[in-house]
Amino acid sequence: MRYSELCKVYEELGATTKRLEKIAILSEFLKKVRENDKEVLYLLLGNLYPSYDPREIGISTQTVIKALAKAAGISDEKIVSEWKKIGDLGQVAELLITKKKQSGLFHGELTTEKIISDLRELAKMQGKGTVGKKIDLIAGLLSNSKPVEAKYLVRILLADLRIGVQDSTLRDSIADTFFPDNKKIASEKVQHAYDLNPDIALIFEKARHGLKELDKVSLKPGSPIKAMLAQKVDSIEEGFEVVGKPAVFEYKYDGFRLMINKDEKGNISLFTRRLDNVTNQFPDVVSFIREFVNAKSFMIDSEAVGYDPKTKKYLPFQSVSQRIKRKYDIDKTAKDFPVELNVFDLLMLDGESYIGRPFIERTKALRKIIKNKEYKLVCAKQLITDSEKEAKLFFNKALKDNQEGLMVKNLNAVYKPGSRVGYMLKLKPEHRDLDLVIVGAEYGTGKRAGWLSSFILACKSDKHGGGEFLEVGRVGTGIKEKLDIGVSFLELTNLLKPLITKSSGKEVKVKPKIIVSVIFQEIQKSPTYNSGYALRFPRVTALRMDKPLNEINSLKDIEREYGEQK
Ligand code: AMP
Repeated sequence: MRYSELCKVYEELGATTKRLEKIAILSEFLKKVRENDKEVLYLLLGNLYPSYDPREIGISTQTVIKALAKAAGISDEKIVSEWKKIGDLGQVAELLITKKKQSGLFHGELTTEKIISDLRELAKMQGKGTVGKKIDLIAGLLSNSKPVEAKYLVRILLADLRIGVQDSTLRDSIADTFFPDNKKIASEKVQHAYDLNPDIALIFEKARHGLKELDKVSLKPGSPIKAMLAQKVDSIEEGFEVVGKPAVFEYKYDGFRLMINKDEKGNISLFTRRLDNVTNQFPDVVSFIREFVNAKSFMIDSEAVGYDPKTKKYLPFQSVSQRIKRKYDIDKTAKDFPVELNVFDLLMLDGESYIGRPFIERTKALRKIIKNKEYKLVCAKQLITDSEKEAKLFFNKALKDNQEGLMVKNLNAVYKPGSRVGYMLKLKPEHRDLDLVIVGAEYGTGKRAGWLSSFILACKSDKHGGGEFLEVGRVGTGIKEKLDIGVSFLELTNLLKPLITKSSGKEVKVKPKIIVSVIFQEIQKSPTYNSGYALRFPRVTALRMDKPLNEINSLKDIEREYGEQK
């Protein structure tokens, strides 16, 4: 397919904020997508592969600037200064390539296959000495691009398409394309199939061949499914009310979710709840799975919890969070920050799907294949009871053991991927915390010179389609000056610098990507921030590299917290 056709759709999508219009645009486009072009669906989400695939383009802004300078024949500085004015490197590329084309250069016709294969090539280039090659490859593509094509090429490279299309938009568009008379049911079936195998191009192809084909989509170890999410309750009594009596209570471990997959060939893969593949980061976990899970193939849901290697005390999430993104010194980090895997659900076993079976069956089957080994791999501590008194004692025990609280589970419920349906509840002691995204920062002075040291936090707006963030305050506390356990200024500065979109004086704006958990004393109404609220005395407690942006707290959550504190 011609790349220009895709760019036309990107433009149309970017020009409307209305979800229904986006769906109409997409379904018109999808009608034209033939089977061999199905991978353009990845490009519509700004990816090259299904979202769970670990291969990323991974290009820094600096490399893109250099490639653009090369293609346009001007200096890096000129590009940076244009970028500062416009705030979007994609638009800068569009402008510069327009100027260049006016000088009469010929360009060929780019295809989406060429874009995908070149970008995949780019994703493979790693390590020292590849920067030059990367720049050449990108500059080559840019030189062959029309202005609008250059704009989107740059945006794809920087993982910032700005067209407001999410998985759910694409799902509804697929239903619209192939089942215009049966949209509602089709949309649910597309979603269900996508939950079981989140490969949008594959689901698109299945949908083309009818609802029956969608029904046949099943679990496959190695392509992870979305984790079932929990609803919050405030008391044991409320827990019983929601899931009935008796209920299953389990420790709520304070770690991070790991979806464990082992296929028939024995390949093990690990995914976070964002479906990031983190197998390479956890060789220790891979070896525990080989040793302590006795089955040929499976998909298991679990929580990995850090502990102090010397004292064996369990540690809060933030102490191990750094392992999730680690690329170097993996073995050393595994030794310094060991984790214990607490398994709690079984989704597939030896080729058979378990997600449609009641929880009680799943947990029994899981417990049969696990050999418990403390500090390596264990089943989540569990109590099945109809007694409030027993459940309370269990809750207190979980807190004493340094865990977050309890999960309350419905004995008879199926596993609903990606949903917060009330089959699984969380119960924590009262304390307020929020997960927010950093949208801006300020360079420090004195001891903190050179570091970004004060951070503007934002929640998501509740508007449909998301993508908009509202500021709720500034935070500078809770962050460490020295690199030890926890979040340091240096680490945050390094993470945020490549995301800077605008700077003036000491202030910078950054792409919303880095999520932090904060606790605070109080929420006040405030005209200072565009959410209308401000957090008083916020403190950062953890970096949440494991959380997707659409799961941060929303304006509604802030309003609710504000209401509750009164
Ligand atoms: P929250 O992240 O606050 O919504 O709490 C839900 C999370 O608790 C899940 O996504 C898991 O990562 C985690 N968790 C810890 N222990 C368990 C457990 N026994 N069962 C299910 N989830 C658990």
